[in-house]
Amino acid sequence: MNSLSPKGLVVHLLVTALLLSMTGFVMAQERFLTIGTGGVTGVYYPTGQNICRLMNREQDTHGIRCNAESTGGSVFNLNAIRQGEMNLGVVQSDWQHHAYHGSDRFADAGPHESLRALFSLHPEPFTVLVRPDSGIERFEDILGKRVNVGNPGSGQRGTVERLMEEYGWGMSDFSLASELPSREQGQALCDNRIDVVLFTVGHPSAAIQEPIATCGARIISVEGEVIDRLVSETPYYFSATIPAGMYPGHDSPIQTFGVGATLVTSTDTSEDAAYHLVRAVFENFPTFKGMHPAFEVLEKESMVGQGLSAPLHDGARRYYREAGLLKD
Ligand code: GLU
Repeated sequence: MNSLSPKGLVVHLLVTALLLSMTGFVMAQERFLTIGTGGVTGVYYPTGQNICRLMNREQDTHGIRCNAESTGGSVFNLNAIRQGEMNLGVVQSDWQHHAYHGSDRFADAGPHESLRALFSLHPEPFTVLVRPDSGIERFEDILGKRVNVGNPGSGQRGTVERLMEEYGWGMSDFSLASELPSREQGQALCDNRIDVVLFTVGHPSAAIQEPIATCGARIISVEGEVIDRLVSETPYYFSATIPAGMYPGHDSPIQTFGVGATLVTSTDTSEDAAYHLVRAVFENFPTFKGMHPAFEVLEKESMVGQGLSAPLHDGARRYYREAGLLKD
């Protein structure tokens, strides 16, 4: 019998333990996927939940468990992906662009070259919600008012700051600039603690619906020269409307500008995991679209390109080629 010496046995056991732990590590990466979303009353949170629901229905095929978490929003999600704390995130197209290129608020961190896009989702019009007694009719009327500019880490906060730069405004131009997270801002508006909510979000969303139903809050339009310039100069902002009839008392379309919600990950996510996630959404497309009214406008063809600044993940590319959505 070919028996091992005690020393050989120790080495053998150590090597086995090392191999097992490495296998366990690789499998752990393959087994769980976490999607960073936003506040629970927004659209990101149900979006992440619905994607995971479709993915988990096919867990027997791919062995991966998907989980969506409520977070502070786009910028938080992009940082969490970069630091390896989350695998995927729903993020605004403007912040996807800046994270990949290392510009704007990602200038210090530098380009995130391993950031990868999976697909784009619903449009997110920049939404200005005001108290009915605030006297605010035009966007410029928010100067001197109590305004919720959003929590640091939210995409909304970043977009507000960018917009303020364009208008040449500072935070001190508001009588109060509060940093409430999206789930708290509607209540604060109805409690008369703030006059204005600025939120970049898909429609309809509970975050907007609740203050409209509870205290008659109104959405106002955002238009003019500054917005026209912003839209014409950047690839990630576009002209947008909040369709008529989305909310009680809002019977005409409201003109504003917007971004697109997108789903991103990094090259740390395996090709198989990305492939199965994208496949779960695209192969069950009618079910997916029926999961949230903000998804009604989604079309497969534009989801594989529109608003995506980072390159497509290899796993996503593999599925899109197979499905005939990508040629090369
Ligand atoms: N666009 C928002 C953000 O990035 C989140 C919107 C939502 O929660 O649906 O912070």
